[in-house]
Amino acid sequence: MDIIRFMNSYGIESNCRQKFKAVRDQQGVSCKKCSCKDHYWLKGKQMYQCKSCGFRTSLRGGTVMESSKLPFLYWFVSIYLMSCMKKGSSARNVQRQLGHKRYEPIWAMMHKIRSAMGHRDSEYLLMNEVEIDEGFF
Ligand SMILES: [Zn+2]
Repeated sequence: MDIIRFMNSYGIESNCRQKFKAVRDQQGVSCKKCSCKDHYWLKGKQMYQCKSCGFRTSLRGGTVMESSKLPFLYWFVSIYLMSCMKKGSSARNVQRQLGHKRYEPIWAMMHKIRSAMGHRDSEYLLMNEVEIDEGFF
């Protein structure tokens, strides 16, 4: 995917969030408490609620983004840069492209993405089943 198409589709936070939710919905959310796979979507709270036990899972819960406070847009842009511009995607460079002040959170995010990219066959996936690569977009 070229950068124009990428920016047209995912250039704003709400689009990235929407795409992320669509992929999660497709893959299914698994309850951490009871492993039930049926969930309601609570639009106001932007959370999934287990139909069986009521446990709530955030949109990022149970994914590689779980403990991250960075915007979805950062994750999408970083995944894009890392999958399309392998040599140009040092953490310093991605930090510059994102215009983010601090280096550490960007480095940590990229470390997680890289782990996910390197373990396609196992549990290191962005979501339950979704692989991080160009096919994601
Ligand atoms: Zn449950």
